[in-house]
Order: sequence, then C-alpha cells, then structure tokens
Amino acid sequence: MKKICPSCGKTEEENEFITSFCPACYSSRHELYRLPHTMEITVCPSCGNTASGEPLGSSEKQLAKHVIAKFRSEHELKSYVAKVDKSGKNREVLLELLLIVHGKEVTKHANVTVRVTKKQCTKCSRRSSGYFEAIIQLRAEEGNAKSKIEKLASTAAELIEEKSFVPRVEKTVNGIDVYSGSASEAQKALHALKLHYAISKKQSGMKQGKRLYRTTFCAHV
Ligand SMILES: [Zn+2]
Ligand SMILES: [Zn+2]
Repeated sequence: MKKICPSCGKTEEENEFITSFCPACYSSRHELYRLPHTMEITVCPSCGNTASGEPLGSSEKQLAKHVIAKFRSEHELKSYVAKVDKSGKNREVLLELLLIVHGKEVTKHANVTVRVTKKQCTKCSRRSSGYFEAIIQLRAEEGNAKSKIEKLASTAAELIEEKSFVPRVEKTVNGIDVYSGSASEAQKALHALKLHYAISKKQSGMKQGKRLYRTTFCAHV
C-alpha cells in the first residue's frame, strides 16, 4: 500500500517519503539545519585577511566556505552548490544544500547575507605604528663578514614576515639591526639560521597592568 502524507494528503511516489511524511512536509515540520541569515566578516583593508588571519579572497568558493563553516545540522550535508551575488558592500550567498535525512536525499535552498566590514587587523596596525617586540642585532666578527650579515638579515626578515612583521631594518657601524613584531618569531628565525646569540630583556612599558618587554638578540657572525 502506498503511503499518504498525513499533513498534505499527497501519495508517495518512488519511495520518497521521510518517515511517514512527504519530503516537503517533513522539512517544514523539522528543523533540518541551522544557518545564520546574516553574517559579518571583517576584512583588513591593508592585507585583505579576515579577523581569523585568513584571506577572504574574491572567489566564490572561499566565501562559501566561510558561510558553510556556520552550518549546523544533525543530518549529513552531502554536498552543496554556492552562488555569490554582489550587491553593494554585501554579498548574497545562495546555497543549494543536499542533505541526507533518514537515508533520503533532501535538497534545501538557503540565502545568507554576508556583510563585509573593513577594519585594520592587529598585525597591520602594529606594523604601521612602528610597534616591535624584539631586535636581532647581527654583528660582524671580522671586517669582511658584511655581505654574509646582509644575507642573514634579509633571510631573518623573510622568516619573521611569514608569521609577524618587520617594521624596519637598520644598518649600524658594525652590523645590521632587524626589528621584529614578535619576539618568538625573531628567536625562531635565529634558530632556523643556526645562529648563536645572547639575549637581553628590557621593560618597554606597561599594558593593562602587564609589563611589556623588548628583547634584544645579539648574534656575532
Ligand atoms: Zn505532505
Ligand atoms: Zn592586515
């Protein structure tokens, strides 16, 4: 005997019912998933990264990923197709979701408005304010080590830039100073370059009741 939906009276065709309801009535009676109607994404105008430090990118795929990260359901999301419409500052993400509900495939459509707000990230605002936590002092042992020191300084700066930033690099009488936004990244760079160094710390100020330090790593090359 064919099933009849107790809600709308529709007769089942091709084994499509979910429990005793037709797919339409089942999904109107059950919350199949949760997804916010609107989302806000903060993007740094200087580097283009979101607050979590990842690039937002201009591609639809990346934006859809940010939205799908908010998808919550007790059912399996088998796949989804996303389309992005740009309307002014906002982006409309139109989703076609394929869910598996009690062993049946159910297609749902969702619409999420993503508001893109611009705010400079910590890394960029620190960089532009000249903030730094550490200085790597590369010092020449012999008079002819200059080019070696220059190479080490630029490699150290590159390594630090991967995770932090280098507000400036200064030449001194007997070497080069590489300023680093992060003390731990400066130290990691020194280890990567296999340099021996002496550490000194100086209090540079207070922030919210905590002492701030500036670390100097002095390496003789
Ligand atoms: Zn029905
Ligand atoms: Zn930034």
